[in-house]
Amino acid sequence: MNIDKLMQSLEAKHSGEYEYLQAVREVLTTIEEEYNKHPEFEAAKIAERLVEPDRIFTFKVPWVDDRGEVQVNLGYRVQFNNAIGPYKGGLRFHSSVNLSILKFLGFEQIFKNALTTLPMGGAKGGSDFNPRGKSSAEVMRFCQAYMVELWRHIGPETDVPAGDIGVGAREVGYLYGMYRKLARENTGVLTGKNLEFGGSLIRPEATGFGGLYFVKQMLETAGMDIAGKTIAISGFGNVAWGAALKATEMGAKVVTISGPDGYVYDESGISGEKIDYMLELRASCNDVVQPYAERYNVPFYAGKRPWEVKVDIALPCATQNELNEVDAKLLIENGVICVGEISNMGCTPEAIESFLQHKVMYGPGKAVNAGGVATSGLEMTQNAMHISWTAEEVDDKLRQIMGAIHEQCVKYGREADGYINYMKGANIAGFLKVAKAMLAQGVL
Ligand code: GLU
Repeated sequence: MNIDKLMQSLEAKHSGEYEYLQAVREVLTTIEEEYNKHPEFEAAKIAERLVEPDRIFTFKVPWVDDRGEVQVNLGYRVQFNNAIGPYKGGLRFHSSVNLSILKFLGFEQIFKNALTTLPMGGAKGGSDFNPRGKSSAEVMRFCQAYMVELWRHIGPETDVPAGDIGVGAREVGYLYGMYRKLARENTGVLTGKNLEFGGSLIRPEATGFGGLYFVKQMLETAGMDIAGKTIAISGFGNVAWGAALKATEMGAKVVTISGPDGYVYDESGISGEKIDYMLELRASCNDVVQPYAERYNVPFYAGKRPWEVKVDIALPCATQNELNEVDAKLLIENGVICVGEISNMGCTPEAIESFLQHKVMYGPGKAVNAGGVATSGLEMTQNAMHISWTAEEVDDKLRQIMGAIHEQCVKYGREADGYINYMKGANIAGFLKVAKAMLAQGVL
């Protein structure tokens, strides 16, 4: 595989799609050695076929706001690869959404979903619509208008969307309602549904819980215990909430959460009712964490990120590229031992390089945050079987899946000196599964 040539051709075709090109480069450079052991991959041009999505739908979403004004947003669905199962991946509603971001997320999703051991292909979608500050009636009208366009392209055995940033149970409910009306069927076409119409227990907690199951195993593999460790978390949404809940249950102490306005430092630990309060904060329309600092009388650092705090573990839980080289160096200086991305591509390539050079344990998003989509896969199984499992059953399966992902990362990521390069391990394991499926199915 000639990575430079492939990257040059992608850069020429998709110039300016920085996040997408970043995600592709990371995967190609880490799988190169393994790829070259398989001449059959090169002969079938697996890399060239994998880096381009199967297809992309782009559509306009016109809707009427509460003042009676017509609004027009852009909607997308990127169906990236379905060699091992139906396209699967969330929808992101946020003003920053563009094709580059959805293509990077869809590309990452292929490998993440392969790692879960469940039969799911990779996809992502969304819109530049931002639900924050909108009334529920506006959100409903937007979701309905979005689904009027999307419904023909998805289905329980074709493409199964779910939530991501800006898309929670409320949005999934409205999207599902319109799909059901148009398609005239009740199926598991979306995951992250409410329990009353096919949702799974533990799905809201799953990304954060899965992340902590993984991080605990990383530490244990290095002979350490998560109990007693201090943790910096970024974000204050659903993922950060689930992570704080499980970390606290495991005996660790979470000392930060953050928002676009800055971060709060709660030295005594964010636990108990303070974790419940995160949900309240999220539900308020302002997208700020400062009220937490006022309520619990703890310091708030405006415009800053939590990576300057001295902690044992850092867990990015917000968005892509939220931890850069400067942040990484600060964390390393302060003695961080483990960084687990629970957000998608939370660290920049330079930050990752610093962690690897300093032999800091680093878990990439496609492994660490796979618990969310894994539990979506379990929701699909429950829907297909027309049954629902108990919280314990789902949680047990989630734990097993995270264990299996960890095992694959160790298998393919252990280096000669014993250091585990989880990024390399996750990319190779995810890639091999998809590549072998593509090879067996011919040129499509
Ligand atoms: N948006 C989540 C992710 O990044 C969940 C996707 C899903 O449940 O399909 O994996």
